[in-house]
Amino acid sequence: SDTTSNAIPANLPLRNDLIGEEPYGAPQLDVPVCLNVNENPYAPDPAVCETIAERVKAIAPTLNRYPDREHVELRQAFSDYLARESGVRLDVDELWGANGSNEIMLQLFQAFGGPGRTVLGADPTYSMYPEYARDTFTGWELAHRNDDFTLNVDRLIERIEAVKPSMVLLTSPNNPTGTPLAHEDIERVLAVCETAEVAGAREGVHPIVVIDEAYIEFRDPGVPSAVELIKTHANLAVSRTMSKAFAFAGARVGYLAASKGIIDCVRIVRMPYHLSAVTQAAALAAFEHTDEQLSRVNHLRETRNATAAWLKQLTYKGQALDVADSQSNFLLFGGHLDNREAIFEGLLERGVLIRVVGPAGWLRVCMGTDEEMEAFRTALTEVLNELD
Ligand code: PMP
Repeated sequence: SDTTSNAIPANLPLRNDLIGEEPYGAPQLDVPVCLNVNENPYAPDPAVCETIAERVKAIAPTLNRYPDREHVELRQAFSDYLARESGVRLDVDELWGANGSNEIMLQLFQAFGGPGRTVLGADPTYSMYPEYARDTFTGWELAHRNDDFTLNVDRLIERIEAVKPSMVLLTSPNNPTGTPLAHEDIERVLAVCETAEVAGAREGVHPIVVIDEAYIEFRDPGVPSAVELIKTHANLAVSRTMSKAFAFAGARVGYLAASKGIIDCVRIVRMPYHLSAVTQAAALAAFEHTDEQLSRVNHLRETRNATAAWLKQLTYKGQALDVADSQSNFLLFGGHLDNREAIFEGLLERGVLIRVVGPAGWLRVCMGTDEEMEAFRTALTEVLNELD
C-alpha cells in the first residue's frame, strides 16, 4: 500500500535536500503474521471499544468547535498513568501530548534543533531520528555504542564535548537492540550536560537530554524509568507512547514528561489544535481501562524471554545465533546472518513478516501472540535449514 516518491515530477520545486528521498516506513504488507513494527498483538477488549465509542459519541456534537488546545484532561490522565506506572507524580504543566511520540520528537527537534544546531544520538538506534533532523535542518551526529549495544558513556561524553549538541537523544530500551540504559549512566550524561556548551547558542545555554522510552513498560520489574529523574533535573525530557505496551498504536498518542520550561518551549512550535477532539476522547477512554490495556504485557515479557532462549539454541553455518539482551517487546538476533535478506524473504514466503534493520548480520522480530510465535519458530527453522 506504500506510495513511493520515485515518480515525483522533475518540475516540482521540492526542497533540494529532499530530491531522491523516499517516504520512511516499514512495508505495510497484507501478511498473516506481522512481527515487524513492534506493536502489541492483542486487540482492545470489547469493554474498551465500548467506552471509546461512548466517549467519541459524547463529544461528536461539539466537533464544530476546535478541541482543547492544551488537552488538560488528557495531560492529567498522563500524570495519573505515570504515577501508577513509575511511581512519580508530575504536574499537568510537566506533561505534553501529541500524535504519537513521532510528533513529540519532531516538536523537540523544531524547538531545540534548527540551522546551526546539532543533535547527538548513540547508534545503532531508531532510524527515524535522522529524518527529524533532516526535516528541521538540524545536524545529526552519533556516538557509537559498544559491541554488546550498551551505551559507551565515555565516548558519548567525549562527543558531547566535541560536537556541542543542543540535544542528546538516547533510547531506552533502545530500538532495534532492546538495550536498556542504566540509571547511573543517564545521571552521568545529565551532569555533563548541565555545564556543556551548545554550538550556535548564547553563552550560558546547555544541552537537554531526551530519553525515548517508547518501550519502557516491557522492562523487568525493578528496572527504573528516567521519569524518576525529572523532578530533580530540569534538563531532562522523557518521551513515552500509548502505541506499544498500551496497545493503542492506531490512535496515535505519545507524550512528553519534562520540566515546565522544556514543555513551554515545545508549546511554541506545536500546530494549533494538533490533537483532535476524537483522539483526546479515545485516549481518555483507553486510560479508563488501563488494567485491560496492559494485561498482556507480562505475557509478552515472558514470550520475549522464551523466544530469546529458543533463538540462542539455533545455529547458522555451525555457529549459535546471538541474541541482544532485550528489555523490550522485540529481539535483535543473528549477528552473523550473512544473507539476512534471504532469511527475511524466506520467512515472508511462509507468511511471517519481520524486519531487516540494525547492523549487518542481524534481524529484528517483534513479539506476537502464542500462535504467531509458533508460526515464526516453524518458519525460521525451515528457512535456516534450507539456507544453512
Ligand atoms: N520511538 C521509538 C524508539 C520507536 O521505535 C517508535 C515506533 N517505532 C517511536 C518512537 C514512535 O512511536 P509512536 O509515534 O507510535 O509513539
